Amino acid sequence: MKLLDGKLCAAEVRAELKARVASLAARGKRVGLAVVRIGDDPASEIYIRNKVRACEEVGIAPLFRLLPAGTPQRMAEDVVKALAADPEVCGILVQLPLPAGLDEARILQCIPAEKDVDGFSAENFGRLAAGRPATVACTPQGVMELLRRNCIPVAGKHAVVIGRSNIVGRPMALLLLNADATVTVCHSKTRGLAALCREADLLVSAVGTPNFVTADMVKEGAVVVDVGINRVGGKLCGDVDFAQVAPHTSWITPVPGGVGPMTVAMLLKNCVDAAERQL
Ligand code: NDP
Repeated sequence: MKLLDGKLCAAEVRAELKARVASLAARGKRVGLAVVRIGDDPASEIYIRNKVRACEEVGIAPLFRLLPAGTPQRMAEDVVKALAADPEVCGILVQLPLPAGLDEARILQCIPAEKDVDGFSAENFGRLAAGRPATVACTPQGVMELLRRNCIPVAGKHAVVIGRSNIVGRPMALLLLNADATVTVCHSKTRGLAALCREADLLVSAVGTPNFVTADMVKEGAVVVDVGINRVGGKLCGDVDFAQVAPHTSWITPVPGGVGPMTVAMLLKNCVDAAERQL
């Protein structure tokens, strides 16, 4: 069993991005990432802090728009539209979840595809689904990068993805399909989940339940990617029963230190890509 070390890979990615940001600066282009936060969800605060720290490390300038929880829909949309029109802003990140009462889809629609560094826009999602170049959601993109940098091939492999959310499961399945894997997507209505998982050469879990993936669900020698982030007794853990599953795998991601750091690294990459395209 080998560890898929997301911390190490993410550090490599950041070092590469730092050089690209410096080269953009030499050509007069500053890489600015607008971070829109509405309300005071405490988990969002931690996520934003991590993203901002990573931005600063590579030389990306964060620009904050902090709005109170009671911000009306129209005002939230206007803030995002103003950022969309600002040439200093290369990418726009609206931290989710938004407070109840705000229409998330309508706010996200105000981000133009070229500044959509989260890859959530209908245009980018459609391009991904059509197998065309797209800005792809950071978490599944981070998984692909982690596999690629560890020379783990996916073409021809049977990949099983558990979860079908728009931000993880679905784009993950599409990326794997675009990379020539044979893909099975499982969800809460799937019958015979364990047997399907046992067929997987590559198993990606994005459910959000601790110890969801147990040893009897994993084929000997499979690659297991744990996207889940759960908190048990104050400690972070993934979806996979790591202690039981790891000995049966060829590669496995730890939680923390697996997919999480890659997600942040891909956000920065999407932002630098956007800046280069804008230049
Ligand atoms: P969602 O809650 O949106 O999706 C969870 C998915 O799991 C759904 O598709 C759901 O199926 C499926 N599911 C739930 N129960 C079962 C079950 N018993 N059997 C099979 N499938 C099931 O979560 P997200 O996709 O947003 O996130 C998933 C996990 O990944 C969470 O722990 C989240 O915190 C983590 N995450 C980690 C990131 C990182 O950087 N590492 C980034 C983003 C998320 P159905 O569609 O039928 O309801």
